[in-house]
Amino acid sequence: MNKINRIIFATSNQGKMDEIKMIMKDFDIPILSLKEAGIKADIVEDGETFEENAIIKAKEIMELTGEVVLADDSGLEVDYINKEPGIYSARYLGEDTPYSIKNQNIIDRLRDAVGDERSARFVCAIAAAFPDGEIITTRATIEGVIGYEEKGIHGFGYDPILYVPEFGMTTGEMLPEDKNEISHRGKALVKMKEILKSKM
Ligand code: IMP
Repeated sequence: MNKINRIIFATSNQGKMDEIKMIMKDFDIPILSLKEAGIKADIVEDGETFEENAIIKAKEIMELTGEVVLADDSGLEVDYINKEPGIYSARYLGEDTPYSIKNQNIIDRLRDAVGDERSARFVCAIAAAFPDGEIITTRATIEGVIGYEEKGIHGFGYDPILYVPEFGMTTGEMLPEDKNEISHRGKALVKMKEILKSKM
């Protein structure tokens, strides 16, 4: 493979980008967000799975720039409500609706669910698109249950309602560096980092 000077991560979400930079800090090659790379793109995510959406984003930016591009697609799957909001997590109840409302709505929809019926997980798929057309994907999850109220001030999105029994807290109560160690995105990104290292 040719020398890679930088990798673009196809996201405009600053919360995610902060996590990604923290996880990739021991990686020799700089990772830039779309904004940092000066790229403006309005990508239509019309895939039916996390992987398909991640590939759509990575491929489109790779074709635009000719560079190595990573992209992720992630979301919350709640078993009791048929894995909603799933790939529609960001758009659930409207893109601009505050998460306090989205989170309360999910808690309300689970009002009759008890114990294991409240199982849920964050899922993350990461795709890498290479200029020679090669595509690689990784996936990881963090398993938990939907809590009865929002807890925690860290993270973003649905973090305050995913209670992780193994750690006795929601991902919103975890310090960012602790969450990155065990999160869906952290684990999928570490898998991707190892693959990228082996290719360079
Ligand atoms: P994406 O940007 O299309 O991958 O959408 C991901 C959406 O899933 C986010 O906007 C959040 O609603 C949700 N999500 C994904 N990962 C997390 C997380 O680590 N914490 C909280 N919410 C998350």
